[in-house]
Amino acid sequence: MEFWFEEEHKILRDSIHKFVANEITPHVEEWDELGLTPRSLVQQMGELGYLGLMYPEEYGGQGGDVFSAIILAEELGRSGSLGVANTVLVHAYMAVPIILRYGTEEQKHDYFEPAIKGQKIASLGITEPGAGSDVSLLKTVAHKDGDRWIINGTKIFITNGTQADFVVLAARTEPGQGSRGISVILVNRDAPGFSVSRKLQKVGNHASDTAELVFEDCAVPLDRLVGEEGKGFNQIMWELQLERLVVGAAATAAGEYALEMAIAYCQQRQQFGRPLAGFQALQHRIVDLATALEAGKQLVYGAAWKYKHDLYPVKEVSMAKLYCTNTAFMAADYALQLHGGYGYMMEYPIQRLWRDLRLWRIGGGTDEIMREIIAGQMQLVPKEQRR
Ligand SMILES: Cc1cc2nc3c(=O)[nH]c(=O)nc-3n(C[C@H](O)[C@H](O)[C@H](O)COP(=O)(O)OP(=O)(O)OC[C@H]3O[C@@H](n4cnc5c(N)ncnc54)[C@H](O)[C@@H]3O)c2cc1C
Repeated sequence: MEFWFEEEHKILRDSIHKFVANEITPHVEEWDELGLTPRSLVQQMGELGYLGLMYPEEYGGQGGDVFSAIILAEELGRSGSLGVANTVLVHAYMAVPIILRYGTEEQKHDYFEPAIKGQKIASLGITEPGAGSDVSLLKTVAHKDGDRWIINGTKIFITNGTQADFVVLAARTEPGQGSRGISVILVNRDAPGFSVSRKLQKVGNHASDTAELVFEDCAVPLDRLVGEEGKGFNQIMWELQLERLVVGAAATAAGEYALEMAIAYCQQRQQFGRPLAGFQALQHRIVDLATALEAGKQLVYGAAWKYKHDLYPVKEVSMAKLYCTNTAFMAADYALQLHGGYGYMMEYPIQRLWRDLRLWRIGGGTDEIMREIIAGQMQLVPKEQRR
């Protein structure tokens, strides 16, 4: 048994592994062409409890710990499609945890529970055309009008945006207050004034739908505010820790999967009278990447352990996200290289991992922002000298 995992984790991994092999991997090409992961898969995963692995039983969850979500992320990372992984992880482990932690009992009943049962799909609306890495710049405003919020603004790059039943939306409720004036509000798909203005075409992650959302005098009842008004920035920063952990886990697993594909290819492909796998130059590079992926995995597990024990490990989570997404992309890039010209052909699955993995060096906080956070945590610049 591995240090971080219990017997029940192993049983869970086996069952998710079988599910992924039977219900996801055979469909990855079809869903890439479709441009989304079908709702029926989310429903099926909800019924099996996979969307609520680490949540309390009283709210419909399985009562497990963060390592159960890590296992799900890893197995989805090995599905062959990170578009599917993105759809599921954004829905269940990025968008809705804020509701469980900060929401009212009514919000948990109306949004959180149906979401983790797979009955409703969620998206997370933070990024805007003018506010990406710097969340404090966001301009979407929500002001009170009688018993409603009236919301105006645009969100961009929103995962699950075309099919989500509700958006966990970050909006400015106190103008001119920077990061302090932001709140989180739940917006239903059928709210008047809400529209999906366009579906975005991406380089990879085709099985994950991504949209631009527009709010034009969008009216939402006041009781859809999640937690305290004006505290949304802190809620989002809290949410991002789990997001970055599961992304680190899924990326590393996808990197390993890519390398395994390449090894299998190199064992059968003959050049210069022997299999490619027999060339020492290739062996050494494969070994270096396998070692780096293993190191990344341990970084995720260590950060997850601290997360599980409420230590709020921002530095370790950011390191894990930065290191794992870069290492996994390097592994996929080399795996494609090892396939030679075939690697560049759409008929070989390695290209999908290479395209899909590129996203995670951007989404969920870019490489550069991870370094900024880590530098801040290391206090490289003394507090009194910070701007
Ligand atoms: C496919 C996809 C799905 C996404 N899904 C969602 C979603 O579901 N919900 C959501 O809210 N958002 C989502 N995003 C948005 C994502 O989180 C942002 O793209 C990301 O945070 C970067 O913001 P930006 O694109 O505006 O880039 P910018 O912030 O404009 O950054 C551009 C470049 O400048 C660099 N940079 C910025 N500031 C600094 C600095 N201080 N120091 C050094 N370098 C810096 C960045 O690292 C980057 O390389 C998604 C994005 C993509 C591509």
